[in-house]
Amino acid sequence: MGRKNESRVLIISAPSGAGKSTLVSHLLASGLPLAFSISATSRKPRGSETNGREYYFISAAEFKRRISREEFVEWQEVYRNHYYGTLKSELERIAAEGRIPLFDVDVMGGINLKKIFADRALALFIMPPSVEELRSRLEKRGTDSEEEIEMRVQKAASEILLAYSFDRVIINDDLEKSCNEITAVVKEFLGLR
Ligand code: ADP
Ligand code: 5GP
Repeated sequence: MGRKNESRVLIISAPSGAGKSTLVSHLLASGLPLAFSISATSRKPRGSETNGREYYFISAAEFKRRISREEFVEWQEVYRNHYYGTLKSELERIAAEGRIPLFDVDVMGGINLKKIFADRALALFIMPPSVEELRSRLEKRGTDSEEEIEMRVQKAASEILLAYSFDRVIINDDLEKSCNEITAVVKEFLGLR
């Protein structure tokens, strides 16, 4: 299975609050040969986040140095002055384990990675049932300020228009249904039943 896995990649993008982290956690716990691709970021760790687990936390200066050395497969300034990117070394690490990288990236990052990996990639877009429901989930999650929520909702409206660039859209309404759907779609992509 090792060599076959090396050639595939899974991309998951969504507007903030659609349920991407929830569905990614579900997939990672489902026993499939996936490995979370740990991005580098210049933002500070939040809560219990640990360097080398959720992200490789580096300074903005270090991030820029690595851009100039062409060490990234893809990178974006997702929020102002906050850089995020996938290091080529991360893909090598995952390939050496014979697993398939799961990229949890923003919508533009997802589109760029799909261009790079083309048919080797399955690009999934997690769609909220509505922008109002997205707002309500962000409010209930309670991790962002009112201003931040407004910004994310505004951004979501334009990101939703890009869903057509993805291979498949998963509408995350009923969580149990979405978990079953995403698992089935990924298994099919991997040639597993
Ligand atoms: P993202 O990673 O896309 O920003 P999260 O996975 O953090 O989104 O989900 C945003 C919030 O919505 C969380 O509080 C999560 O528990 C909740 N949530 C996720 N999926 C659903 C769903 N299908 N129905 C209701 N709430 C959901
Ligand atoms: P957060 O700061 O909430 O962890 O992440 C903010 C956004 O950046 C999320 O949508 C996340 O998926 C995205 N992100 C994380 N890593 C990368 C990456 O390597 N490239 C891109 N383009 N986006 C990323």
